[in-house]
Amino acid sequence: MAYDSNNIFAKILRGEIPCTKVYEDEHTLAFMDIMPQAEGHTLVITKEHAETILDLSPAAAAAWIHTVQKVAKAVKKAMGVDGFVLMQLNGVAAGQSVPHVHFHILPTSLGTLMTRAHGAQMGDLQQIQGYAEKIKAELAK
Ligand code: 5GP
Repeated sequence: MAYDSNNIFAKILRGEIPCTKVYEDEHTLAFMDIMPQAEGHTLVITKEHAETILDLSPAAAAAWIHTVQKVAKAVKKAMGVDGFVLMQLNGVAAGQSVPHVHFHILPTSLGTLMTRAHGAQMGDLQQIQGYAEKIKAELAK
């Protein structure tokens, strides 16, 4: 299917709507999820336009994983957890709600994750901002 450049993450990339950014480089952007499934739920997106992982160029995929690793390390430290879940949904059938490829970094256990609905409830924006500051501080080290 053709990429929909009006999706919410494309708008975030163009700066048309705000996000709580924790990291950005030439190829990727990481920001806080506004309907977190875990405290510190962070998203990592590619700047290359692609709906699913299958639509992404190998170079963009490599840069994306590099950022996921870097940001996940900071999220893990900032949130003081021993583990985290990486989630990456492809296609409406799999539950993907925003058609721009992204990884979810979820500092929680798989069991806890399964008890929280996906993208269902707005988080506390002040609390989310606080987590973002902690994550950025770890990334700056
Ligand atoms: P998906 O269902 O596509 O795997 O995940 C999309 C994620 O984007 C959901 O976890 C949802 O909470 C999050 N989300 C939806 N709209 C926005 C938004 O406007 N800003 C941010 N930061 N996250 C969003």
